[in-house]
Amino acid sequence: MSRSAHPAGPRHADVLPEGHYAAPPADLSALDRKIWARTVARGDDGTVAVGGIPVTRLAEEFGTPAYFLDEEDFRARCRAWAEAFGPGADVFYAGKAFLSRAVVRWLYEEGLNLDVCSGGELRTALDAGMPAERIAFHGNNKSAEEIERAVAAGVGRIVLDSFQEIVRVAHTAQRLGRRQKVLIRVTVGVEAHTHEFIATAHEDQKFGIPLAGDQAAEAVRRALALDGLELVGIHSHIGSQIFDTSGFEVAAHRVVGLLKRVRDEHGVELPEIDLGGGLGIAYIPGDDPREPHHIAKALHEIVGRECEAAGLRSPRISVEPGRAIVGPTAFTLYEVGTIKPLEGLRTYVSVDGGMSDNIRTALYDAEYSVVLVSRASDAAPMLSRVVGKHCESGDIVVKDAFLPADLAPGDLIAVPATGAYCRSMASNYNHALRPPVVAVSEGAARVIVRRETEEDLLRLDVG
Ligand SMILES: *Cc1c(COP(=O)(O)O)cnc(C)c1O
Repeated sequence: MSRSAHPAGPRHADVLPEGHYAAPPADLSALDRKIWARTVARGDDGTVAVGGIPVTRLAEEFGTPAYFLDEEDFRARCRAWAEAFGPGADVFYAGKAFLSRAVVRWLYEEGLNLDVCSGGELRTALDAGMPAERIAFHGNNKSAEEIERAVAAGVGRIVLDSFQEIVRVAHTAQRLGRRQKVLIRVTVGVEAHTHEFIATAHEDQKFGIPLAGDQAAEAVRRALALDGLELVGIHSHIGSQIFDTSGFEVAAHRVVGLLKRVRDEHGVELPEIDLGGGLGIAYIPGDDPREPHHIAKALHEIVGRECEAAGLRSPRISVEPGRAIVGPTAFTLYEVGTIKPLEGLRTYVSVDGGMSDNIRTALYDAEYSVVLVSRASDAAPMLSRVVGKHCESGDIVVKDAFLPADLAPGDLIAVPATGAYCRSMASNYNHALRPPVVAVSEGAARVIVRRETEEDLLRLDVG
């Protein structure tokens, strides 16, 4: 993505779509099973349904834009992760991907734990009845108030992210008469991307304490010495949208190296290792993420092997999938507005949402697919760009897409795999009203986060 000014001509002349969209798909109506939520299917009349309810009916009842979340799929994914890792490991859902009280209850019922990283997420989790001991609190700059609330609530883990925090949490716990279970987050020098990872000696980022050198060992020494803390393990999170386990292999090797050093220096074998989240999902055809059981088997083997080589007992493993649980379970439903064919270039299809409900395309160059869902069409493919209604030319939802050439205003199109980091990153840009999240299950749909209203906006504006 260009970040400097340039003449509009040459660098905008990318008239041919890149990568996966070099050729239109064979069937524009097809719903790629890897990308769409489990119960999404096209009915005999050509209309797509989720949980048995046609999108046309959903649009009538709940309006557009809106996120529709397949509850059965969400619960099935929770179970798949929990079963894959088994009773000897812990799965924490990363709440930042998408959190609401309904989601917290599903997690609770399906036996998962929950990561939070702010007072607001902690409040949501506790309010919905998640037992505090199943919550882990993250963040590189937790406020004194957040630490106090987390310790007082009795959260199961606080993940310490800096030297200052080691002292702050220890003092808070002591003052409250607690001994707080903590992990220390380290950076292992692995930069993971979708299709490759880079292993370096150092990591240049705000999270965690560098494993290279002596800082991490020093952090462990200090944490072990403080009465308010019970240091249970080491935490590492290497990135996001990761498709294979090779990056975890390097991370585990380096973390186990620290565990060994801790054993040698302090005579203590820390009982836990948290390998973080970042497991990828399919956004576009050709994306092929691993299944939870494959990942679980690989991570257990990697940690087992590394510990055996180091002469350590295998610690209890935790993982923290966010996107991999909620991402595929939801799609965003939009109504098509203006359609602008630009000769020799592409057709701009405007929808009634945009960067306020999905910032990922603008922020990360994220790729999405899109399908006409309110009816069937056998029209020819039309090279399109799906854009929002915001006053910003970077307001793109799907950069390169093929939609049927008979697309018309009023049609409904859906962007799949928007369950993670879309509603949770939504904004009020241009005073847009953030869309609702509607959970669909067994033929019934219910709002779990309602649509914002103009009254909501004005309530914050004290005049
Ligand atoms: C963001 C994050 C996760 C979840 O990442 P996903 O890509 O959604 O799986 C897990 N752990 C930590 C510490 C994170 O920062």
